Amino acid sequence: GATIGILGGGQLGRMLSVAAARLGFKTCVFEPGGDCPTSHVANYHFQASYDDADALRKFAAAVDVVTYEFENIPTAALDILEGLVPVRPGRKALKISQDRLTEKAFLTDLGLKTAPFAAVDDTVDLAEAMAEIGLPAILKTRRFGYDGKGQARIMSEGDAAQALTDMAGQEAILEGFVAFTHEVSVIGARNTAGDVACYDPGENVHKDGILHTTTVPARLTTAQRTDAVLLTAQILNKLDYVGVMGVELFVTAQGLLVNEIAPRVHNSGHWTQQGCTIDQFEQHIRAVAGWPLGDGSRYADVVMENLIGADMERVPEIAKEPGTALHLYGKAEAKPGRKMGHVNRIIRG
Ligand code: ATP
Ligand code: MG
Ligand code: MG
Repeated sequence: GATIGILGGGQLGRMLSVAAARLGFKTCVFEPGGDCPTSHVANYHFQASYDDADALRKFAAAVDVVTYEFENIPTAALDILEGLVPVRPGRKALKISQDRLTEKAFLTDLGLKTAPFAAVDDTVDLAEAMAEIGLPAILKTRRFGYDGKGQARIMSEGDAAQALTDMAGQEAILEGFVAFTHEVSVIGARNTAGDVACYDPGENVHKDGILHTTTVPARLTTAQRTDAVLLTAQILNKLDYVGVMGVELFVTAQGLLVNEIAPRVHNSGHWTQQGCTIDQFEQHIRAVAGWPLGDGSRYADVVMENLIGADMERVPEIAKEPGTALHLYGKAEAKPGRKMGHVNRIIRG
């Protein structure tokens, strides 16, 4: 059978490996760290740095296709891999989603709505951006932010100077604060034949900048649901995308605004493991392996809850709950803010 290469050995890589194994594929994970969530799940590991060109070439030679579980893959590493083996999703999606400014420009070019935004490299830019966008606003680093890291709320002019200092010279973007009623996301998939399928949108609640719960079905009108799915298809098609993507949306009185896109399986898609015949992990493996997409229609109402840090202490109690599936990532230390696992609770009407 074919071997699927996965860049990144975190929980997403782990769940992708399990899905791949179930379809008869082998998996080979490239991960700089040692003991990691894929350690006892993937068939092979390359423990090496992304600067190690030789290790990257050996990895490419060992696999039939490369995919990834995070978007911040260094450009030089991609250059090497791309010359040797198909990388799916491709370069376009990575380039755009690695930088919040490029991402928002791409989305607005597509005719989609986002928060008002402006690039901020220095104090002069910041003053101009605040004059244009107004307050409150959010200053975000353009690159490498996740789980709300590298972000500062700006309520007053005074906050602004401090926020920029905290960015320590990193390029940033100022976004107008969106008064959304709630947040939803669409998990979409596109395969090599260009077929597109989207899961039912989920409603997301964040706590301390980290996803706390995803609930399906989301509170959306039929028109909003259609909009959400169509805009996701538009993004996937424009990028010639192959794989699963997460599209985060703000629901407002003025319609749906796109917050950000993630070129990979997404935390807010974990509910599909108990809510659909084919979950997002298998869907991604199918897409990158050149298979037909699977049936992702939703057959249950589900609430997914992330288990972060000390939430792990509740595992013995959760394990007794009926209608609840536990997914634990095998991480040794339950540090604050660390995603240790999640639970999917099937809601019966
Ligand atoms: P993720 O872990 O989803 O990748 P991230 O660090 O990339 O998160 P964002 O998704 O940009 O960060 O923001 C995190 C959360 O902060 C959003 O889900 C939303 O709740 C809030 N937020 C972000 N941008 C805005 C905005 N412009 N207006 C209002 N709230 C916002
Ligand atoms: Mg993000
Ligand atoms: Mg986000």
